Amino acid sequence: MAKAAGAKQEIEKLREEIRQHEYLYYVLDEPEISDAAFDRLVNRLKALEAENPKLVTPDSPTQRVGGAPREGFPSVRHARPMLSLDNAYSEEELREFDRRVRELAGREKIEYIAEHKFDGLSISLQYENGMLARAVTRGDGTTGEDVTLNIRTIRSVPLRVDAGALKKAGLRGDFEVRGEVMMTREAFEALNRAQEQAGGKLFANPRNAAAGAVRVLDPAITAERRLEFFAYYLLADGKAAFEKHSESLQALKSLHFRASEDWKLCAGIDDVLDYCAKWDSKREKLPYEIDGVVVKVNRSSLQAELGFTARAPRWAIAYKYPAAQETTVVNDILVQVGRTGALTPVAVLEPVQVGGVTVSRSTLHNMDEIDRLGLRIGDTVLIERAGEVIPKVLKVVKEGKSRKTFRMPEDCPECGSRIHKAEDEVAYRCVNASCPAKRKESLLHFAGRHAMNIDGLGEKIVNHLVEQKMVEDFADLYALRLEPLAALERMGEKSAQNLLNEIEASKKNSLARLIFALGIRFIGERTGQLLAEQFSTLEELAAASEEQLVEVPEVGPKVAASIAEFFSEPANRELIKRLRKAGVHPTAEKREVKSQKLAGKSFVFTGALAHRSREEAGELVQQHGGKVSGSVSKKTDYVVVGADPGSKHDKARELGVTILSEAEFEKLLGI
Ligand code: AMP
Ligand code: ZN
Repeated sequence: MAKAAGAKQEIEKLREEIRQHEYLYYVLDEPEISDAAFDRLVNRLKALEAENPKLVTPDSPTQRVGGAPREGFPSVRHARPMLSLDNAYSEEELREFDRRVRELAGREKIEYIAEHKFDGLSISLQYENGMLARAVTRGDGTTGEDVTLNIRTIRSVPLRVDAGALKKAGLRGDFEVRGEVMMTREAFEALNRAQEQAGGKLFANPRNAAAGAVRVLDPAITAERRLEFFAYYLLADGKAAFEKHSESLQALKSLHFRASEDWKLCAGIDDVLDYCAKWDSKREKLPYEIDGVVVKVNRSSLQAELGFTARAPRWAIAYKYPAAQETTVVNDILVQVGRTGALTPVAVLEPVQVGGVTVSRSTLHNMDEIDRLGLRIGDTVLIERAGEVIPKVLKVVKEGKSRKTFRMPEDCPECGSRIHKAEDEVAYRCVNASCPAKRKESLLHFAGRHAMNIDGLGEKIVNHLVEQKMVEDFADLYALRLEPLAALERMGEKSAQNLLNEIEASKKNSLARLIFALGIRFIGERTGQLLAEQFSTLEELAAASEEQLVEVPEVGPKVAASIAEFFSEPANRELIKRLRKAGVHPTAEKREVKSQKLAGKSFVFTGALAHRSREEAGELVQQHGGKVSGSVSKKTDYVVVGADPGSKHDKARELGVTILSEAEFEKLLGI
């Protein structure tokens, strides 16, 4: 009993602490402890809750992600409609709004609050007894969708509000907060990068990404999407909670909601116009996107007096920044080589003003995108600038009279080497390891801990070395001399000497590391190892045909093609020669040869073996002169089948290849 009581106390204390740190991190952006220390607190709480399942409550910070994927979202009626806002697109329309309000109110001057118009998805949070009970989308304004489980995963949404803070604000535990779910530009870009890598669909803008994340059926996915919630209304009994809207905004902050810091109390419409102008030039620098300014009458009693139309409140208006879309002509399409060697087509536009900025370029991402748009040089296109300076092409609006089809170049525009495209990839890439466009990236990879492990060759030094033209390819590293190196910014003799020692030591690295370090597309550490087991020098690997390469375990046609492409590039062959001259010429450690009884025989393994891993079995085959391959062909001599074999088993039967059990395999080896 005493133990349980102690646990309860500790659990409550931990929750309190974690809530505070979540607030510091996710709302204020001012963490006081490291991520690791935070994780320790959460893990301790999880452990205690696992020991005491009865003490788990829905408002515990461990319970943000819970519940299984669902079929759909139930509909919920809003207590008070979630209305839209009327729009103003010019100073004139804002002044007109002010005139109407003054007339209806019969006053000379009106106090307004001007706030950012967050470009996201509006959500109503309903709290009961200080605990988050429900989260609902706007829907058609009258009924929305219950997305509670998904919204709970957003760390800046309090699952419970501190009772003391409520009391201090003069609020009861039942209230409603309205605000916007958003994604920062950074989170949006990271998401799209991940989507691109996984071959998933790309989101057009942060708003779509945020809306998509709220409406996925699996809350675990929402949790991964780094969403923010910005609060801008506080309602009690369906009405404004305070005398003034400014007080609501302050109260939201004291209740630990993330509310904008940037709202302003305006004495009249002139102040509002100043605010709009100021943020038009500054909004680019915000971490999230805003598409305008919301202007609200500050005094709640006046709001009530003014009331609503069927569509929107009469006491508020959304000032929208000038349209960020424009049409223009694509004069040309250029190709840029990125840091990884990928070629990106860029549209050269007839310069045009979009949302106050002149634009003359727009990325087209890749060839697939150009095909999707049906774009040719000379066409007129609709472009959009959504916050970022570089706009994107939305669609072709008029075909050019003498339109020209764009083709990806066959040679790299930076270095003239061959361009390669893997079959199932969208990107075209330059395969030259020393291509100037990817020099820095390649060198960093080469020096990496799992590659040549050259400690001290980090980003700053690589930048210097490349910019001063001291290093153009990997081999140049081995020709570096002390004096010029020590003369580099913030280097000094001692660290220069250390670096030279590290570079010298890297010559002793294994062949496997060197193969990986070359940065051949699709060749990770493990493939590097497997290749080093088959070929005893880099030259031998370079001379291998694609047919020989697919014989290597785990090397499929795509990887084999990439290796062959790499070594067929003259610049890369030259590089290998230069490395060898520099003394970088590891040879594979020779495998212990026990017999030649499997000489000339090739094996494929499928399924799980009982007595050894497949790698170990493969090693055995090779120790006895045999070869291991990753795929079954007519040339395969034996397919060794373990438990739960895959399609290779069927293939073997189809081709009539001899099939062995593990016991039969052992017998063959005489073990
Ligand atoms: P619109 O969707 O263009 O009709 O604009 C109305 C919507 O703007 C509202 O429904 C809210 O979702 C959203 N909004 C964004 N920021 C604010 C804000 N600071 N105050 C009120 N509504 C806002
Ligand atoms: Zn190149």
